[in-house]
Amino acid sequence: VMGVDALAEKIRKIPNFPKEGILFHDITTVLQSPEYFRLLVDLLTYRYMGQKIDVVAGLDARGFIIGAALAYQLNVGFVPIRKKGKLPYETISQTYELEYGNATVEIHTDAIQPAARVLLVDDLVATGGTMLAGVELIRKLGGNVVEACAILEFTDLDGGKKIRENHVPLFTLLQND
Ligand code: 5GP
Repeated sequence: VMGVDALAEKIRKIPNFPKEGILFHDITTVLQSPEYFRLLVDLLTYRYMGQKIDVVAGLDARGFIIGAALAYQLNVGFVPIRKKGKLPYETISQTYELEYGNATVEIHTDAIQPAARVLLVDDLVATGGTMLAGVELIRKLGGNVVEACAILEFTDLDGGKKIRENHVPLFTLLQND
């Protein structure tokens, strides 16, 4: 039976993408394999089935892929948190800092019900800025982030620490230092 070790090996590492000095962790190799994609979704499903989750929110763009599959498995709805300018209805937005400049993410104002128990999903946590922006949006709408989850966490960047300091449990399948 395959486990998280197999998943770690399946992730493709691309040096100097999107720029010099960055080792990009490419999860498309997991997604394009029927066995590995199922393994990934099953590992997350087993963690969250039986927990009280009202809705899964996924971060643009790879959080959509994992989050939607997980929402389907948990029999709950899916909410996209998108990059600025993509959502058609009324939105609220959150801007956060990147290494150079900043980024803005948005959510529809009717996407989260007050006191909803939300599972927040992305593929990877680096500085934690993206995940925390998602947390802020959900909280602004009155939702509770039960847990934030991702496939991979770069522990040396302290993103996980930053997220947990904001009183959000973080679960990652793999940790990379
Ligand atoms: P953070 O906001 O934690 O610094 O960066 C995480 C965000 O950037 C996530 O939305 C993630 O998809 C993207 N990201 C940053 N580095 C990588 C990487 O090496 N691989 C992948 N797949 N995504 C990354």
